[in-house]
Amino acid sequence: MLYKKSIFIILFSLLITSTAFSNNNIKISFSETSNYYEKQIKKTIENSDSINILLDTLNKKFYIKKKVIIEIGKNDGPLYNNETNKILIPYSFYQETYNIFKEVDYDKTGISKKDATIDVLMQTILHELAHALIEIYNLPVVGNQEDIADNFAAVMLMEFFKNGDEILLSTSDIFKLYSNNHVLSNEDFIDEHSLDIQRYYDCVCYLYGNSPLKYKKLVEELNYTQERKLLCEEDYIKNVNSWFRLFKNYFNKNRT
Ligand SMILES: [Zn+2]
Repeated sequence: MLYKKSIFIILFSLLITSTAFSNNNIKISFSETSNYYEKQIKKTIENSDSINILLDTLNKKFYIKKKVIIEIGKNDGPLYNNETNKILIPYSFYQETYNIFKEVDYDKTGISKKDATIDVLMQTILHELAHALIEIYNLPVVGNQEDIADNFAAVMLMEFFKNGDEILLSTSDIFKLYSNNHVLSNEDFIDEHSLDIQRYYDCVCYLYGNSPLKYKKLVEELNYTQERKLLCEEDYIKNVNSWFRLFKNYFNKNRT
């Protein structure tokens, strides 16, 4: 299985790194800031190498026929609006995520609160981009679109970025922290998203599926059964292959 996966990844990388054509249709914009904190958040995101690399990579990999604007700072979101084709992420999302990491003194993990917050922002942008791509390409959706968007974000992070698994690890931690701070009610079960605790375990499953050796200890601490661990590995390979098939006409190719 691992052998099959590495062959696939080589093919996948060849396809996407041999591309020169880019239409740069994914762009970021910032709403006007209304206080000191928003101004600082805007500055942090604008100057973040990780966010710039994310946008650059996505623009190089995907050929998108419509402009997708990631608008940071509106009071709504995170969400994708299919009428305006905008991804909205409020400044407060950054602030709240940062505060949650601060409450648990996240720096002690070796990742700063700021880096962990940027990691969550990257996963969120990818999650919303999944909704955008499904809409723009009119992709078939068989299953819960929210879980599919999380799956897309996990696969893109780990297949396209050198430290993608660590970005996903910070994201898994935020789902766990949300769930620690939250008393479940009927609304949570009615909501279109899986429960935060389920999103946490799903992220861990993707991490292990992509890199069983690196995340062996984590899944063992969390009592994943042997059967579940195997499924994480098998499903991850299937997920990568499926996204590749789904997007094969939309990845940039050399157009001569
Ligand atoms: Zn969503």
